[in-house]
Amino acid sequence: MALIVLKFGGTSVGNVDRIKRVAELVTKARGTGEEVVVVLSAMSGETDRLLKLAHEVADCPDEREMDMLLSTGERVTIALLAMALRGMGLSARSYTGRQVGIMTDSTHTKARIERIAADRIREALDDGIIPIVAGFQGINEHNDVTTLGRGGSDLTAVALAAALKADQCLIYTDVDGVYTADPNIVPAAKKLDKVSYEEMLELASLGAKVLQSRSVEFAANYGVPVTVKSTFVDGTGTLVTKEDRDMEQVMVSGVTGDRNQAKITFIGVPDHPGIASRIFGPIGAANILVDMIIQNVGQGDLTDLSFTIPRGDVHKAVDLANRIAKDIGAKSVELKDKIAKVSLVGVGMRSHSGVAARMFETLARKGINIMMISTSEIKISCVIEEQHLEPAIRSLHEAFELGRA
Ligand code: ADP
Ligand code: ASP
Ligand code: MG
Repeated sequence: MALIVLKFGGTSVGNVDRIKRVAELVTKARGTGEEVVVVLSAMSGETDRLLKLAHEVADCPDEREMDMLLSTGERVTIALLAMALRGMGLSARSYTGRQVGIMTDSTHTKARIERIAADRIREALDDGIIPIVAGFQGINEHNDVTTLGRGGSDLTAVALAAALKADQCLIYTDVDGVYTADPNIVPAAKKLDKVSYEEMLELASLGAKVLQSRSVEFAANYGVPVTVKSTFVDGTGTLVTKEDRDMEQVMVSGVTGDRNQAKITFIGVPDHPGIASRIFGPIGAANILVDMIIQNVGQGDLTDLSFTIPRGDVHKAVDLANRIAKDIGAKSVELKDKIAKVSLVGVGMRSHSGVAARMFETLARKGINIMMISTSEIKISCVIEEQHLEPAIRSLHEAFELGRA
């Protein structure tokens, strides 16, 4: 019997009627004779609401307590879906991350899954019960609740699919697949029938929140076939899979943007060997992910050094940066948080030249200033003012002719 993992995102379980719709989809999947495991997100807006509450009681809320709070959203939806399914005569049971043995490290709010003891799910399946698992959460070695980073229910689904050796992992959401750009920003965006793990990983890491980037990394590592589909309309969706020759033919597969960016600049840093490690050592140790780094040409024996981080880490990073600045004798620390990153992604970039030039020219024609640039084999990213993000995405989508034929 085939085993499938079905994951439903926040909009798909956003109210009681939608939970009933999900119950129907689960019943239908079960009716085709497949073994089904369901993973759910919290209702849309719930995790943001909880985050806001936390910031109303503390400037820099304790991360262990934050996880205790955030993990509650998913408990609501799993219990409601299990009740709905039982009301329809099916045998279903809800489980928290702890109950299904999702073991993580202790990096609260962005924990990594270390292993899954999925026996409880196997037992439920063997007893003919549909397990409904809370996404986005696990426990660490101290039995404390952890969460897996925003969008982390995708990771729960993929990791469970890998642990259970499922035949498929279906991610049900509010769009009917992965598009050449966020269809809510670019109405002319085109749905992709398939996309390689590598491209999807870049798109997701660079802001296309349709899949959480870690879930894609996990899917690639364990070869889990993932399909992104709509909860609301029928369709084949987008298959995320291994790269093939057709994919290489396309110069650019997608354009994406990320507002979750902030830039910190150390001004007047002594230009000595070892300074970069004294800056980035403590920042890395605080689990702050640094993305782009620019060191300006020094004047005299002083230089400026800028880097970008996720906006959610700004409080922590600025406090730390001020302490580091004192320690290394830098003049000051400057924060700019109204920035964004726009990126082009495509495995075809390996064999096509001129993508960067066309990207810079397109942004220049729009009068958009580029603050930082970074490239890899299959992507080019530019940091720009946040207010220019959507026009940049739309004009790049047009310049690279990514729209509907
Ligand atoms: P869920 O709550 O189901 O996890 P998300 O909001 O996390 O859903 O992800 C779905 C959203 O991702 C879509 O509504 C869309 O706005 C956004 N998105 C961003 N980039 C893309 C893309 N390239 N293709 C499809 N959707 C995208
Ligand atoms: N509820 C969590 C979030 O909003 C996890 C998820 O939806 O995947 O980020
Ligand atoms: Mg999501």
